[in-house]
Amino acid sequence: MNYNHAVFLKSANLISQLPPESQIEVAIAGRSNAGKSSAINTITNKKALARTSKTPGRTQLLNYFQIKEHYFLVDLPGYGYAKVPGEIQSHWEKTLSTYIETRDQLRGIVLIMDIRHPLKEQDQQMIRWITSVELPVHILLTKCDKLTRGASMNTLLKVKKELEHYGDFVTVQLFSALTPVGVDEARAKLDQWFA
Ligand code: GDP
Repeated sequence: MNYNHAVFLKSANLISQLPPESQIEVAIAGRSNAGKSSAINTITNKKALARTSKTPGRTQLLNYFQIKEHYFLVDLPGYGYAKVPGEIQSHWEKTLSTYIETRDQLRGIVLIMDIRHPLKEQDQQMIRWITSVELPVHILLTKCDKLTRGASMNTLLKVKKELEHYGDFVTVQLFSALTPVGVDEARAKLDQWFA
C-alpha cells in the first residue's frame, strides 16, 4: 500500500459522523506528546498531515485520513492530558469506547509510546481494553533516536517480555520519526491489517 497518498478526510466527534464508505480502518492512539502526530506524518511521508502543532478542532476526536478509496487511518485523541474539561472527557471516553468496541471496520490499533517512558498505567489499560475486544495492538516505541542502539534494544526486549502473555495480539517495534527508524516495519504491519 502506498501511504504517501494519504489525505485528511474529516474529523468525527460523534459515532454517527464516521464515514460510511470505510471498508477497513486502523486507528492510532497514544499519550499526548508521545509522538503520534510525528509518527503519522513519517509513515505517510507528509510533513504536516497530522499537525504536529495541534490545530484546535482537528484534534477533537477521530481524525480520518484516507490512504486509498475505502481505506483509512484514524488518529485518536491523545490521552493523559489533564486540561480537558470533565464533560468533554466523558464524551470522548464514551465515544471512544463505542468506537473501539463496535466499529466493524477496525482491524487493529497502533499504540505510540515514548521509548523513554513505556507502558505507563494508561498505556497498559489501553492494551488490556483493546485486546479484550480481540483487536490486535502494534506498539511503536518511538523517539528511539534519544537512546543508544543498545539501550533501545534493551527497552524493546523488556517491553516484549512484559507483554508476552498477550501472544500474537500485541507486537512491538522500535521507531523514530527523526532519524527515521522502523518506518518500513510499521508500514508492513499496516499492510497486514489493510489486506
Ligand atoms: P503527539 O502529541 O503524540 O502527537 O506528539 P508529537 O508528534 O506532536 O511529538 C511531541 C514532541 O516530540 C514534538 O516536540 C516532536 O518533535 C517530538 N518527537 C516526536 N517524534 C520524535 C522522534 O522520533 N524523535 C525525537 N527526537 N523527537 C520526536
